[in-house]
Amino acid sequence: MDVERIAFVARVKPAVRIRIERERAPKLVAELEGLGAEVRRGPWRMPGGPPRDVVCAAWTARAVEELAHGEWELCGRDRGDDNSTEQAEAARVIGRCLGYPPCCVESFAERARVKVERSRFSTDWLAVQAAWVRRPRARLDTLRFGERLHLISFEPCRFDCPAALEVADAIAAAVAREDPDGLRRLDEALRTSIAIEPSGERARVVLRSRIVEHAAAIPRHAGRPPSEGSESLAGRIVGRAVAETGELEGDSARVVDFATDVPPGGVSARGT
Ligand SMILES: [Zn+2]
Repeated sequence: MDVERIAFVARVKPAVRIRIERERAPKLVAELEGLGAEVRRGPWRMPGGPPRDVVCAAWTARAVEELAHGEWELCGRDRGDDNSTEQAEAARVIGRCLGYPPCCVESFAERARVKVERSRFSTDWLAVQAAWVRRPRARLDTLRFGERLHLISFEPCRFDCPAALEVADAIAAAVAREDPDGLRRLDEALRTSIAIEPSGERARVVLRSRIVEHAAAIPRHAGRPPSEGSESLAGRIVGRAVAETGELEGDSARVVDFATDVPPGGVSARGT
């Protein structure tokens, strides 16, 4: 199931930006053009992870040009260290083109602006620090991209942001029309607690009475196995206590407790 494609075709997303292995890009471009979309395939490479092409698509030539230009500004150019303000602006343009909520876009752009000073932390870690809440919503889980498990493709400003949840629910409704079982499986998979450390390595965890009972390494990047760092994280945190604020006892990692969310349409059993 390709959530991005479904959301775009259903017009829930006004545009898409898809990272894809270079050899698979021509087929995707042909498919999107076959749907009547305007497509641009960049010479851009996303930083980090395996080399990938970026394919931008929208329903009008103007929209795709704006998106492709923003993408080039954000990722395509090499411009040294003093680029953070321009990158933040490019992130705003891209977020607007892709239909992301303004609050989440602003939060992302702010992180892009300050990232030079804080570059010893991974961007995923900084996003989690900004978005962490006690009761995160599973449909806003963005930490499982490496397993291709996600509904939204932007980092929410908070893991319970109402505007982000509205986007996630609209995408879920489009997915349900095409593949209801797929959506059920995805919703279930996203209701999982995740531990992440400042380097961005992460693991799935099962908590019992706020103690890590089980942990399993998960990949950061799609198409790759979990890294050694992720295996090491999973190996060392079993048996540790998780504070109310998500911090792991005696460790730099933090847990986002998506498992506490109730199933969509389910009745809350946790009270208020
Ligand atoms: Zn938001």
